Amino acid sequence: MDTEEASTPEAEAAAVKEPPKIHRLEESVVNRIAAGEVIQRPVSAVKELVENSLDANATSINVVVKDGGLKLIQVSDDGHGIRYEDLPILCERHTTSKLSKYEDLQSIKSMGFRGEALASMTYVGHVTVTTITKGHLHGYRVSYRDGVMENEPKACAAVKGTQIMVENLFYNMIARRKTLQNSSDDYTKIVDLLSRMAIHHTNVSFSCRKHGAARADVHSIATSSRLDSIRTVYGVSVASNLVQLEASEYNDSSSFVFKMDGYVSNSNYVAKKTTMVLFVNDRLVECAPLKRAVEIVYAATFPKASKPFIYMSIVLPPEHVDVNVHPTKREVSLLNQELIVEKIQSAVELKLRQSNDSRTYKEQTVESSPSSPYNPSKELHLNPSGSKLQKVPVNKMVRTDSSDPAGRLHAYVQSKPHTSVASGPNLSAVRSSVRQRRNLNETADLTSIQELIDDVDRNCHSGLLDIVRHCSFIGMADDVYALLQHNTHMYLANVVSLSKELMYQLVLRRFAHFNAIQLSDPAPLSELLMLALKEEDLDVENSENDDLKEKIAEMNTELLKQKAEMLEEYFCVKIDTRGNLSRLPIILDQYTPDMDRIPEFVLCLGNDVDWEDEKCCFQAIAAALGNFYAMHPPLLPNPSGEGLQCYKKRKPLKNPVDIERYPNDAGDNVENEDEIEHQLLAEAEAAWAQREWSIQHVLFPAMRLFLKPLNSMATNGTFVKVASLEKLYKIFERC
Ligand code: ADP
Ligand code: MG
Repeated sequence: MDTEEASTPEAEAAAVKEPPKIHRLEESVVNRIAAGEVIQRPVSAVKELVENSLDANATSINVVVKDGGLKLIQVSDDGHGIRYEDLPILCERHTTSKLSKYEDLQSIKSMGFRGEALASMTYVGHVTVTTITKGHLHGYRVSYRDGVMENEPKACAAVKGTQIMVENLFYNMIARRKTLQNSSDDYTKIVDLLSRMAIHHTNVSFSCRKHGAARADVHSIATSSRLDSIRTVYGVSVASNLVQLEASEYNDSSSFVFKMDGYVSNSNYVAKKTTMVLFVNDRLVECAPLKRAVEIVYAATFPKASKPFIYMSIVLPPEHVDVNVHPTKREVSLLNQELIVEKIQSAVELKLRQSNDSRTYKEQTVESSPSSPYNPSKELHLNPSGSKLQKVPVNKMVRTDSSDPAGRLHAYVQSKPHTSVASGPNLSAVRSSVRQRRNLNETADLTSIQELIDDVDRNCHSGLLDIVRHCSFIGMADDVYALLQHNTHMYLANVVSLSKELMYQLVLRRFAHFNAIQLSDPAPLSELLMLALKEEDLDVENSENDDLKEKIAEMNTELLKQKAEMLEEYFCVKIDTRGNLSRLPIILDQYTPDMDRIPEFVLCLGNDVDWEDEKCCFQAIAAALGNFYAMHPPLLPNPSGEGLQCYKKRKPLKNPVDIERYPNDAGDNVENEDEIEHQLLAEAEAAWAQREWSIQHVLFPAMRLFLKPLNSMATNGTFVKVASLEKLYKIFERC
């Protein structure tokens, strides 16, 4: 009856009302819980043991592992050993030789100081220590369990140093053992740990092998050269593709903020994921913001080698480092982190650009969008009104209306890998021969591009940078402004000026390393220029000026033909000998500019570029490309909302562009009217949907990675703060 009663809800409620009794946990339980925290997995035990060996000044550390560390972890070193009289308390909690008073923490150089690691291991495994100290003929061996010796130390033969054996790890933590048994990757983690340790502590030789295996999986020899060490541990393919790197920041002559030296991979190193080996004051740590900052640089500079290998050793003033964090907490945050990350990021960027200049074109050739994993066309099933759109690859979604009465450009584009130069001479040879022929300052070594990039970096607004990197895109508020959320704030952001600036910056950063968009129908410059000039003054009647326009077009064509080599080499804008535009750069993968803007672009090249001064010249060309590739509203009015009028009635066509484009349709095709407008509407809908897709899926992700927003954008209306969500919530609450 009792059990029945207990299971009724009333009885349960009554039982809950009684407060549970508080009692003191048995010490062994406390210790085991604590131990489980310090030693989370086999690899954490290995880390503690190896750090102890390093603290004991070992020059050789050998690790043997069985069953991913669950059966056996054995670490042998040639360090100073452990005194006989210390053995009884060696594995008690809070026994250490490294720290006596709290203040020592400020200046501590050793890895350990808590006296917790060995103790923890005895609570979750069986620990046996064999050690010998200098000047003694024999050593001692003793086993521990739950912090205490299981027997008196036994004299035994021993080689210099200490060997610690941990057997049956987690034998008393069934759940932990089970999860670990199922995942066999702890040996991999151990190998990874020792590889990292080995390339930092180059004066120590490391080895790591599976129990019974003849071959070691890590085997480093003490050396004075870091590069040699990386070569032995990570292999030639890594070591031969590294560049050395340094960065530092000083307050004044006497004190420093940080010093960093390291190695990072060049464009030949291609891997599936980033390897970042980071030591801060000789402690192996992780720092996600720093890793991300470096990855961003790689993604921008070497799109094909965007997962680098990074080794960095950062030294900070000891008082800036809080060593007293939990031993398992590997993720650090540094004092002055933003500054440090930024400095290191620029150092990497500079290094990569330098190394970029000296490599061959072949290495840079990257296949363009057809092979890319995201094909926007796959996702573009619906236009805003929900009807099906034709599935057209995005790189072909440009107007192909060959019957266009105004004779507009009807090129369609294909992305083709730019292979023609791939087998040719290396880039620097090409460049120097071109430099001799073009009439720019011949001694220029492209510092002008570096200066332009520096200008961008110098003018970067850190607050906006944070917004751009961490905002979420909500949607388009109108034709030009996107609505963004950042923390609890909403912003309107002008996508035209943002995309223009992004494209400009990308042109500078990818300078001379573009993949190509091939125009299937090379377009005659003279015609493009005429179109642009006619569009410039929209008084269509004004045809007596046509002669003048033709002259301008002719002159500009000649000028651009003269500059063709430089335009092609540095900007991938190809103009053939007959004066046809045949190739454009891919500035952002997955994105093709609006080809209707080619005429304006060509005119801008002809009119706005100062070809004499190298820096101004590059800047103007990059700006022209930026303007061309920016995500302007499509020329056809937005059919959603008011713009729909333009597609309903033929006569009051308000948009001059449409008059210009479809002059023959005006009036005389009344019976076709509906059909034509239907097509036009569909076309407009497709263009707008395509643009919105690109804004969300191409522009914003790219901005997050690459854009350095300018200071001016905070005040010129590019970013407008809308309202604080907090206030909005309050308003809702009141309602
Ligand atoms: P901690 O390293 O925080 O001092 P541990 O529990 O890891 O605490 O080690 C306790 C003490 O044991 C150390 O302070 C050190 O004196 C000694 N010890 C541990 N491992 C070794 C070793 N491999 N060689 C010499 N001494 C060691
Ligand atoms: Mg220790």
